[in-house]
Amino acid sequence: MKSLENKVALVTGGTSGIGRTSAIAFARAGAKVVVVGRREEEGNETVRLIGEAGSDGLFVKADVSKEADVEATVAATINKFGSLDIAFNNAGMLGQNALLAAQTEQAYDRVFGVNVKGVFLCMKYEITQMLAQGNGGVIVNTSSINAFRPLAPGLSIYDASKTAVVMLTKAAALEYASQKIRVNAIAPGPIETEMLNEATGGNSKAFEGFVPAGRLGKPDDIANAVLWLCSDAADFVTGHTLAVDGGILAA
Ligand code: NAP
Repeated sequence: MKSLENKVALVTGGTSGIGRTSAIAFARAGAKVVVVGRREEEGNETVRLIGEAGSDGLFVKADVSKEADVEATVAATINKFGSLDIAFNNAGMLGQNALLAAQTEQAYDRVFGVNVKGVFLCMKYEITQMLAQGNGGVIVNTSSINAFRPLAPGLSIYDASKTAVVMLTKAAALEYASQKIRVNAIAPGPIETEMLNEATGGNSKAFEGFVPAGRLGKPDDIANAVLWLCSDAADFVTGHTLAVDGGILAA
């Protein structure tokens, strides 16, 4: 039997990058997967890849910064698959690259709206559903190593938003540990995705020199860690943020 057989997993930001790769990894482990994002074509492509990996998927078009969308996403999950056991709240955005004094109120609201309010809203509706089911659940939120150290000028709002994810994760873990809902976060280093390409102006290879391990991360590096956090092998791990960064935070 596969490790996540009979489980239902929800992945936000499943239309590309880390989210798509993790959705496929969940499918290979036997979970049915709900893919959440705003881009329909990309979301349907992830569902096709989930089918190729031997499981069932559902795409739900939703903006995680909108409460009605998030509530409807959890409802669609239950409608299609009957339960929600695992959630990977991974949707995120960088915002504009600019020094703090040049940032705008709109940029702040948008980045915090997706990266922080989005994680809050997802957890609110996921936890409500998991409590109603009564047999626990597992949540992983996507933070970043930028939560612990601003790696370069220009991303102050993004950095702060990812620190907020660390604390939302700890607070939720504390509040629901007794109901067997585990909540952890992942803090990726530079991972080869569209976002890293955007962050580096198309020059992501230049980042390799900053990584003690000597290479950029791949979406699979994150998916493997997320799968472990969601597995029974991590049953006593909650409230933790796991850096997967080739040693950057150790330096
Ligand atoms: P990506 O390919 O650009 O993925 C970002 C995902 O977030 C997309 O699937 C996007 O889907 C989704 N998203 C953005 N805004 C959304 C919204 N309002 N509602 C719903 N979904 C939304 O980049 P990625 O690297 O895989 O990023 C995934 C996560 O990893 C992010 O939280 C990011 O901050 C974090 N991270 C990445 C790195 C890295 O080096 N790549 C490092 C540290 C942390 P739609 O466009 O379809 O909505």
